[in-house]
Amino acid sequence: MSESSVFTRILNGEIPADIVAETENVFAIRDIAPQAPVHVLVIPKTAQYRNVVELATADPALLAELVGLANAVAADQTDGDFRLVFNTGAGAGQTVFHVHAHVLAGGLSESSTH
Ligand code: 5GP
Repeated sequence: MSESSVFTRILNGEIPADIVAETENVFAIRDIAPQAPVHVLVIPKTAQYRNVVELATADPALLAELVGLANAVAADQTDGDFRLVFNTGAGAGQTVFHVHAHVLAGGLSESSTH
């Protein structure tokens, strides 16, 4: 049996994290190593999708719920403008294979790409 992802363990309360928002199927936490003044991860509660391509193909409504929560977090924590990043594949910097979006906002330089 494969091990739970770090995000599933956070959702289950096995690892502490600052949960800033949630909906029925998605939750949002502060990144442990922030790359911007606001750096929040928005994550489906299910761990069944490894990346955004799998999620978009199998459950576009869940992807839309995720984007909606990202927007709500950005509206709550900054002026509403934000960058939404899905690292897809190890070669692109993905380290946790439980799909998640990085919401980056506040004081972003024009060249920053996370
Ligand atoms: P990826 O590199 O897969 O796109 O993003 C994974 C993100 O998860 C990284 O930005 C990393 O800092 C964050 N992360 C990894 N472990 C933890 C943790 O235990 N708690 C929190 N809050 N974030 C984590």
